[in-house]
Amino acid sequence: MNILEQKIVTTRKDHHCFGCARKVFKGSKMQAITTVDGGDISRNYWCATCQEYWSRYMQDGDLIGYGELKSEDSERWEALRNELEIDFS
Ligand SMILES: [Zn+2]
Repeated sequence: MNILEQKIVTTRKDHHCFGCARKVFKGSKMQAITTVDGGDISRNYWCATCQEYWSRYMQDGDLIGYGELKSEDSERWEALRNELEIDFS
């Protein structure tokens, strides 16, 4: 799998984050990663928490399935989310 493009975008529609499978509403800043695998091009979106999780704990070349960044290590992921996201509830 090769990364073709990686950029921060302001989403124009709702997306699910690839790392944690949460729904992120349009108008959010997400990282859009376009990859090619064989002949298949796909684009995935990542929320800020998952971007930070990846840069802290994962290595380039690591592969995960959809939602696994959170589901594989939910305790550490939740701790990071609490650190990064302000919760007014
Ligand atoms: Zn996420």
